[in-house]
Amino acid sequence: MHFTGRTWRPPYEAHSVIIQAASGCAYQKCRFCNLYKGECFKISPIEEFEEDLAEIKSYQPYARRIFWTGANPFVMSYENLKLRALTVRDYLIKCRTMAMFASIRDIKDKEVWQLRKLKAMGINGLSIGVESGDEETLSLANKGYTPADILEQCRKLEEADIEYYFVFMTGLAGKGGGYRNAVNSAELFSKLNPYFISVDSLTLFPDTEFYQMAQAGQFIPAGEKERIRELQVFINHLNIRTHVFANTVSNYAPVTAYLPYEREKVTSELQYVIDHTAEQTMRDYRANLKSLG
Ligand code: SF4
Repeated sequence: MHFTGRTWRPPYEAHSVIIQAASGCAYQKCRFCNLYKGECFKISPIEEFEEDLAEIKSYQPYARRIFWTGANPFVMSYENLKLRALTVRDYLIKCRTMAMFASIRDIKDKEVWQLRKLKAMGINGLSIGVESGDEETLSLANKGYTPADILEQCRKLEEADIEYYFVFMTGLAGKGGGYRNAVNSAELFSKLNPYFISVDSLTLFPDTEFYQMAQAGQFIPAGEKERIRELQVFINHLNIRTHVFANTVSNYAPVTAYLPYEREKVTSELQYVIDHTAEQTMRDYRANLKSLG
C-alpha cells in the first residue's frame, strides 16, 4: 500500500477499508491545526491508487465501504473523482460507499448534476470539518469560508442526496465567545441535515498559529468549563434530529446524544461535570493531549 506521511481517518471509519487517495492538506491555513504540518499536498497517481486497489482485492474482495485518506481528496476535479470511483468499482465489486474528508471549499466547483453522478457511482459519506457556523469564529480560525458558504454548499450535497457529517469545535471562539459560537452554529446547522455531528474541543499545540497568538496575548483560550457550557448551549439550540458524538479524547467529559430525545439527559450529565470537577483538573487533562481529535 502506498501510504505516505500522516494517515488520518475519523474514529467512525474504523471498520472501513483505507486507501490513500491524497496526502496532506490542500489548504493548510486553519490557525488551530497542525495535522499535516510540513507535508506537501499530493493527489495519489492513479497507477498507485489502482495498485492499492488490487492489493485490497487480494485480501478483502468483498469490502463494502472504503475510506479515501488525505485531508481533502474531494478537492479533486469531478473527472478525477469519477475516474477513481469507477476504478474502485472495477476492483471491489461489492463496494457500496466511498467516504472521505471534504472541505466546504471543495464542493464549490462541483455542480449538483456532478454531485448526483458521484453519488450514483458510490461517493457518499463526506466528513466535513466545518468546526463552526459562526461568522466571527470561522474568520478567527481562518477556515476560508463563511456561514453562507456552508449553507449553500451543503444544500447542494442534500440535493444530490450525499450524506455528510459535521465536526464542531468548542473553544474555537476563544474566551467569552463560546455562547455566541454555540448559538450561531446550532442555528446554522439546524437549517441543514448533517447525518451526525462529531464534537472536538480546541487544544493548542506549539506549532500552530493560535498557540503563537496566545503567547502574544492576541488569542485568549476559553476555560474548560466555558467549553462544556458551550457544548450544552449548542445541544440546547440544535433543532434537528441528529446524533451528536462529543466523545473524542479532546472532550474532557465524553458524551453522546440522539437529539432531540436525549437533550435533557446529556445536558444534565454535562452540568454534573461542571458542578463536580475543578477547572484545573480539566486543564491538566488537556495539557497531556497529543493530538487534535
Ligand atoms: S483543519 Fe483540515 S482544512 Fe484546516 S488545515 Fe487542518 S487539515 Fe487542512
